[in-house]
Amino acid sequence: MVIDIRKLKAERRYEGELHFTLPPDNDVITLPLVEAASEFRADGVYRLHEDDSLEITGKVRCLLRGACSRCLKTTEKWLEGDWEPCFVRGEPQDEEYSYDRDVVSLDESVKDAVMLSLPYAFLCDENCSGIEYDGADGRSE
Ligand SMILES: [Zn+2]
Repeated sequence: MVIDIRKLKAERRYEGELHFTLPPDNDVITLPLVEAASEFRADGVYRLHEDDSLEITGKVRCLLRGACSRCLKTTEKWLEGDWEPCFVRGEPQDEEYSYDRDVVSLDESVKDAVMLSLPYAFLCDENCSGIEYDGADGRSE
C-alpha cells in the first residue's frame, strides 16, 4: 500500500481512513512452529500534518496458526496489535519512518507492527498446563 502525499494535498484530504491487506510474510512471525494463516490486515486513520509528516493510528490483525508453546496442540488465534507509525520527509527520529518523492509505502510498518505485537509464547489457552502424560502405572485405554 502506498500513499501519494502530493495527491492528498491536491485533494485536500488531510485526514482519512485506511483499510488494506498485505500478503502474509512469515519472516516476521518469529514464534517457533507458528505461521500466518491469513493476510495481514491494517485498519486505521491517517492525518497529514503541515510539515508533511503522516501520522497513522490503527490496528494490524493476522490469524496465527501453529503449535501451542506448552502442549504442542495445533492452535489458531487472531493477533491484534497497535499500528501507529509516523512518516517524515527526510531524516527520521526514533521510531519514525522516512519517505521521499511524495510517496509513502506503508507495508514495512505493517510488518513491523505484526512482529512487535507477537506474544512471547503461543498458547492454546492461557491456563494450558502443558503436555499431559498418562498415569504413572502406564496403563492406557
Ligand atoms: Zn496448550
